[in-house]
Amino acid sequence: MYAPSPFHTHGAPRDYSQTPLNVYWETTQACALACRHCRAEAVPCADPEELSFEDSVNFLRQIPGFGSPLPHLIFTGGDPLARHRLYDLIDEAHRLGIPASITPAATPALTRDTIAKLKQHGITGLGLSLDGSCSSLHDSIRGVPGTFDLTLQAMQWAGEFGMPLQVNTLVSAETAPDLPAIFHLLADQPVSRWSLFFLIAVGRGKVLQPLPAEEAEELMRWIYSISSTAPFTVATTEAPSYRRVAIETMRAEGLAGEQIGRSGAARGFGIRDGHGVVFVSHKGDICPAGFLPVTAGNVRTSSIVTVYRDAPLFRDLHDPLSFHGPCGVCRYHALCGGSRARAFSATGDPLATDPLCTFPNA
Ligand code: SF4
Repeated sequence: MYAPSPFHTHGAPRDYSQTPLNVYWETTQACALACRHCRAEAVPCADPEELSFEDSVNFLRQIPGFGSPLPHLIFTGGDPLARHRLYDLIDEAHRLGIPASITPAATPALTRDTIAKLKQHGITGLGLSLDGSCSSLHDSIRGVPGTFDLTLQAMQWAGEFGMPLQVNTLVSAETAPDLPAIFHLLADQPVSRWSLFFLIAVGRGKVLQPLPAEEAEELMRWIYSISSTAPFTVATTEAPSYRRVAIETMRAEGLAGEQIGRSGAARGFGIRDGHGVVFVSHKGDICPAGFLPVTAGNVRTSSIVTVYRDAPLFRDLHDPLSFHGPCGVCRYHALCGGSRARAFSATGDPLATDPLCTFPNA
């Protein structure tokens, strides 16, 4: 998801224990799709307990409290296009100077005019999901026929309007064999960033199978191999151990510390769930990430700035020495730290070790 592409702007250095890079806001649970792996367990209608317009504006007005540079705000869902008064909320974020992107679902609401309007209101990046290289594979995961064709059409519209585009692809046992074909398909599209999301079994994601750790590591080596020639940035989500794989491969290629450091900045080294990333649910709950549903406060009653900096859960997540097992003692834990969401999903402990990692000498 980030141009630098819209969702990750690694420009100015920042202390991630004080200011996140990205604030993900689940504006609504409502969505007309029925994706097999939906984290939000989206439903056709909005939850009556979703943040009201006034609560939402109050939340947005908290964000400048992080100070400069402000984090990037991602309007997500459900389908953010189904959110009541979406454009008024985008206008408020724009008025506050908060850079913002959006991740709409591929429904009939996603039209050429919609993308033009989002841009007019100040949205600076679009995130679309593509989980298959053809309609039968993609639509079977997304649950509604026609979403593959609409997604490719929306990519063209984004290109037409010069909107930086991030494509998000699910990595699971079901999708992994198709990833090279998706990569070749995207090479001809106006894509800024391709983000490979390694499945976390939460929400409806429990119906799909995550890759075993050894296969995930092999896939990470393939991701690194295509990253230097791809016509867009290639990144991973919920697979921070990719950074270890990248560092080890760069060392094997003879790269020195400074070169690795520059490459690492582009790859988001040091960012992980709750440290560089924070998530606000449709009800206002403040969590470390969308895939780590542990609540540390609510924007109705607390400031996101205070919770992110000072809540005990976030303090632990800011400090890799607090992690348990191999991730706590691993020499890569400051740059990687493991997926806290996957650790939680596997053990119920967000500080446990990431079971996707095969690193033997942690
Ligand atoms: S042991 Fe944990 S911190 Fe170390 S590379 Fe693996 S996931 Fe990252």
